[in-house]
Amino acid sequence: MDLTFTAEERAFRDEVRAFLNEKLTPDLKRSHHLTPSVFSDPPVGNRWQKILHARGWAAPLWPKEYGGTGWSLARRYIWEIESAAAGAPSVTPMGLRMVGPVIMKFGTQAQKDFYLPRICNAEDYWCQGYSEPGSGSDLASLKTRAVRDGDHYVINGSKIWTTHAHHANRMFALVRTSDEPKKQDGISFILIDMKTPGISVRPILTIGGDHETNQVFFDDVRVPVENRVGAEGQGWATGKYLLEFERGGAMTSGRLRAILADIEKLASTYRDGEKPYAATETFALRRSQAEIDIDALEMTELRIMSSLQSGQNPGSVSSSLAKLRNSEIKQSLTALAVDALGQDGLYWEGHRPLYEMNAEPGIPEEALTALPEYLNSRAYTIFGGTSEVQRDIIAKVVIGM
Ligand SMILES: Cc1cc2nc3c(=O)[nH]c(=O)nc-3n(C[C@H](O)[C@H](O)[C@H](O)COP(=O)(O)OP(=O)(O)OC[C@H]3O[C@@H](n4cnc5c(N)ncnc54)[C@H](O)[C@@H]3O)c2cc1C
Repeated sequence: MDLTFTAEERAFRDEVRAFLNEKLTPDLKRSHHLTPSVFSDPPVGNRWQKILHARGWAAPLWPKEYGGTGWSLARRYIWEIESAAAGAPSVTPMGLRMVGPVIMKFGTQAQKDFYLPRICNAEDYWCQGYSEPGSGSDLASLKTRAVRDGDHYVINGSKIWTTHAHHANRMFALVRTSDEPKKQDGISFILIDMKTPGISVRPILTIGGDHETNQVFFDDVRVPVENRVGAEGQGWATGKYLLEFERGGAMTSGRLRAILADIEKLASTYRDGEKPYAATETFALRRSQAEIDIDALEMTELRIMSSLQSGQNPGSVSSSLAKLRNSEIKQSLTALAVDALGQDGLYWEGHRPLYEMNAEPGIPEEALTALPEYLNSRAYTIFGGTSEVQRDIIAKVVIGM
């Protein structure tokens, strides 16, 4: 297998580097670096996405007919690796990587025409209404009910842990439209305008001090029937299709490698006794393990990208494997960062967003996110389906347990 780039691919890499050099301003990079959350705050992420949209690069994974780049696998890979290494903001996946592919596959022409361009140009900001109090891993037990009333559904119930619901103007949600003997039946997939009367959003602050998640309440919320994606009662299959993209639709290995490089830089400025922490045997061993883990994850992600390239979906096993490994590696990297900083690893700065803080921090700015990111990353093995659930899926499909 020849893994070297062709002349054409090397020319594309140069084009990407020139673009990043010109458009990725120092304040965008700084804002990204000082964001401990899972993805950028909307003012930062949307700004970057609009710049990408102007260049025609907003949707690297989408086919051209829907406003995507139509890039080859090699080009996607180059794009992900180069933009991660350059420190570009990570834009929200809710539109581009989650509801977008669902609308492309199951949506009506009118839904495609309306929603897909608005995802690309960052006009819409989406949130995911799946989990409910009492329905997380056992998602099919969800109780938020949508009752048909003429050409509308009337929705009552509550969603919880809804990431960035306080920023979003749209939600894709799973709702119960009927009671069937099998609980997976009777669920529908619906698109909701967050400004509809009857919706209220209550913040939930996470252990890292960030306002990322919320509880969303629906009180007689009227949603047009035309906002349903797919047939009534068939939402479970649609929702699972989306989860494959949520868990496996990204190239996270480039981002993880960039984090490791940042940690190494930091570790060379902090001392462990006589020498820099980066020169210790402990650091070398942990860095090597991380490099091996990231390389292995990259192969899984390339396999998934190759399926997407040929018009398939990520596949439940590959996406569960990618989600599992990405979240575990991310947690081990954030633990390494905290350990590398000695006492500074315990330094707590409560101001959010960190990139808008005016006061001089008590530790070097590059080290400021270590502890908040360590705490924030505890959620990686929970959201998008817990690690135990991913292992269950892999065991069922691969080993037949
Ligand atoms: C930061 C954060 C952001 C989130 N964002 C969103 C969002 O935007 N939208 C959304 O819809 N949801 C979101 N979630 C919710 C997330 O998907 C759920 O928390 C997750 O699916 C687990 O559900 P639960 O919290 O109800 O825990 P439970 O399902 O109650 O699980 C509790 C424990 O039991 C284990 N367990 C449960 N069932 C099994 C099983 N069958 N086999 C083995 N172990 C099992 C779990 O692994 C876990 O350790 C978010 C969660 C977090 C923490």
